[in-house]
Amino acid sequence: MKKEIPYKIYLEEQEMPKQWYNVRADMKKKPARILNPETLKPITLEELSGIFCEELARQELDDTTAYFDIPDEIRNFYRMYRPSPLTRAYCLEEKLGTPAHIYYKFEGNNTSGSHKLNSAIAQAYYAKKQGLKGVTTETGAGQWGTALSMACAYLDLDCQVYMVKCSYEQKPFRREVMRTYGARVTPSPSMDTEVGRKINAEFPGTSGSLGCAISEAVEAAVSQEGYRYVLGSVLTQVLLHQSIIGLETKTALDKYGIKADTIIGCAGGGSNLGGLISPFVGQMLKGEADYEIIAVEPASCPSLTRGVYAYDFCDTGKVCPLAKMYTLGSSFIPSASHSGGLRYHGMSSVVSELYDQGLVTARSVEQTEVFKAAQMFAKVEGILPAPESSHAIKVAIDEALKCKETGESRNIVFGLTGTGYFDMVAYQKFNDGQMSDYIPTDEELAKSFAKLPKVEL
Ligand SMILES: *Cc1c(COP(=O)(O)O)cnc(C)c1O
Repeated sequence: MKKEIPYKIYLEEQEMPKQWYNVRADMKKKPARILNPETLKPITLEELSGIFCEELARQELDDTTAYFDIPDEIRNFYRMYRPSPLTRAYCLEEKLGTPAHIYYKFEGNNTSGSHKLNSAIAQAYYAKKQGLKGVTTETGAGQWGTALSMACAYLDLDCQVYMVKCSYEQKPFRREVMRTYGARVTPSPSMDTEVGRKINAEFPGTSGSLGCAISEAVEAAVSQEGYRYVLGSVLTQVLLHQSIIGLETKTALDKYGIKADTIIGCAGGGSNLGGLISPFVGQMLKGEADYEIIAVEPASCPSLTRGVYAYDFCDTGKVCPLAKMYTLGSSFIPSASHSGGLRYHGMSSVVSELYDQGLVTARSVEQTEVFKAAQMFAKVEGILPAPESSHAIKVAIDEALKCKETGESRNIVFGLTGTGYFDMVAYQKFNDGQMSDYIPTDEELAKSFAKLPKVEL
């Protein structure tokens, strides 16, 4: 078989993007403004700068500047693990017997094991530049906390991580990687913060959620001098930093004259998906090209497919700004049977607005099916994928099998966001046949929707 397209499409170092792309600049209807949780009015730069460092607050609110220069210091850090390869999944295609061409952009080539490092280094850099002592954050499955610990260690910043309790217990190795990089890791909800104590009293024995951990981390940031809060997903600034994934993907595809037909990403808070699709959606918005874009979410936490598009709190403790997004309600706590990642109740305001405009479609998948896809992928492509990433693998396989039926050859591109080495408890459950798929009932969701804030603008 003649293979004109290599297994791995590598970019040269100098082909790595020099700017991030802000897709909001090209959206005619912009994502809704975030609101101050106390006044329920659009938040000002000054107010936001109390929570985030100044440059990040500015990026968060800027929906008109299309390109932001990536500072040299950040590019130098990126050089340690970027550009990341775009791989043609020849082996998977052969296994499936599909005429489709499958490509994946692999972001697991760094110690944190995921794309999160792309934003962690940016956020730590701007905090350091502002002269701060440290940052606080939450982590769910642990990848964000690990990425931030690495970035903070590199820049000599203090790093305090509130880790969702079930992950803290299920993933001791992630916790220890963070501590090795010098971070302080606290299981959430903890008894250290007012909001943590309140949540513990209200839901005794809770295994925690990202929403709780966020509230704790924000409280810790605003109550310590010289600290700010950072967040690894959901925010528009994070999507901006993650646009490097999509920009590199597009450069690699263009190099070989490949036009993507379908672009697939897993969606927790929407950052890898948003970053991957940004330049492609930019083309769609300008009428230059058309793509089918699929966001894949877990059936146990289905914010796009079953949520409502409304203003909601980003955290359980209601201390963060409100965002208009597809949400299951900030009081929704996903079942503990769902393994790690993609547990967030809402979705990035950018992805939400693109979904509402019909530029992005969404699908939900059950975790047993996801792990079957993960296993198949690992066997033929050699990479043990993260469970989160495997949501995208599952739908890429489904789409490739559809092509087998119709005989159509499509170019399918998906984001392989990370590796699953620290997810062996979940893989063990799968291997033992003990994985369950808990899908919330309409009644449960209705209860959570009823608690959505009433916002009139
Ligand atoms: C955090 C994470 C995700 C989900 O987060 P998004 O913000 O939706 O991208 C997906 N895959 C991996 C490996 C992650 O670490």
